[in-house]
Amino acid sequence: MNNIDKTKPVLVTGATGFVAGWLVKKLLEEGITVHAAVRNPDKLEKIAHLNELAKNSPGSIVYFKSDLLQEGSYQEAMAGCELVFHTASPFTSDFKDPQKELIDPAVKGTTNVLETAKKTDSVKRVVVTSSCAAIYTDATECAAAPNGMLTEEIWNSTASLHYQPYYYSKTLAEKKAWQITESQEQFDLVTINPSFVLGPMLNPGFTTSESFSILKQMGDGSMKAGAPRMGVGLVDVRDVAEAHYLAGFTPEAKGRYITSGHNTDFLEMALTLQDKYGADFGIPKKALPKWLLSLIGPMVNKAMTRKFVKNNVNVPWKADNSKIKSELGMSFRPIKTTMEDSFQVLVEAGIFKK
Ligand code: NDP
Repeated sequence: MNNIDKTKPVLVTGATGFVAGWLVKKLLEEGITVHAAVRNPDKLEKIAHLNELAKNSPGSIVYFKSDLLQEGSYQEAMAGCELVFHTASPFTSDFKDPQKELIDPAVKGTTNVLETAKKTDSVKRVVVTSSCAAIYTDATECAAAPNGMLTEEIWNSTASLHYQPYYYSKTLAEKKAWQITESQEQFDLVTINPSFVLGPMLNPGFTTSESFSILKQMGDGSMKAGAPRMGVGLVDVRDVAEAHYLAGFTPEAKGRYITSGHNTDFLEMALTLQDKYGADFGIPKKALPKWLLSLIGPMVNKAMTRKFVKNNVNVPWKADNSKIKSELGMSFRPIKTTMEDSFQVLVEAGIFKK
């Protein structure tokens, strides 16, 4: 159980990210000094939105140049912090070498951040942004789980370097975080395990997250023929930020927290956009047949292998989000709000051509 002093600075790794942006916003609104660890603080276009937030909030932001792959690179940023939010990790399906581009930054980065926390006397709590990907790979695993639902008790045992390496990277990184935490007594660890995150991007022109790519495909005509009825969980980015905040500042917070608002699928998500955007954009209206996806999937997206299609398309996804609701008092925004608010940001940013 740890009480965090809000007058002390708080570290956020990967502060330029989609999820981290909303967390930084929340911390600044609470008047907290944010130590923002970013790869390149000189790239002003990547941090302009954070500077704007800081200008209009009681809190303040200080940047530090840090890289997941550089040992000791978070030392300066962590000095004096009681609370560390470790969000940085690559989330993409556009990779050539999964070991180098996904696994190494995720695992070596987590090791780097947590080993530094061990050496930084002020640190009392580390909150790691893990993922439901550290719990499962395929939606077929939901039905096979006790009571037909994913829970915090379950660990992903099916992803590998060759099958869904992003899932593998998140599993190995979270395991590493628990292993390092168990080797010491100075800080405790809480993990936030979000399902698929959508919601408004604070910096839409420079978003790297895979969340952005999938939303873009729903409006740019790529899914005009139909959307995969692929079972997933959905959570709003603003709710994910709130969950991190509560995990950091609730003394009793403990263990892993599935952070997922809804059990849904890509078609159901896209259909919520029909009312407002259906007339102007190529929003999918129907399900893409599974056989067709098996044929074209691997050509469209590296992660859409035949095995993945077989195990996820037309397969319901179910996770139990009761722990975070009861222990941290979380509630979740409706799907339609999340979808419309995120789509509107892309429309206003001129991402789609009508
Ligand atoms: P983003 O791509 O927006 O954010 C990833 C962040 O990681 C960026 O700030 C990026 O920095 C940083 N990063 C990547 N590689 C390095 C590196 N070598 N050194 C330092 N920083 C690095 O993705 P999200 O916001 O979506 O993801 C944030 C976290 O949330 C990740 O841990 C992800 O696994 C997790 N997550 C995301 C979900 C989603 O649906 N979006 C679902 C579940 C978990 P830079 O800007 O310099 O590239």
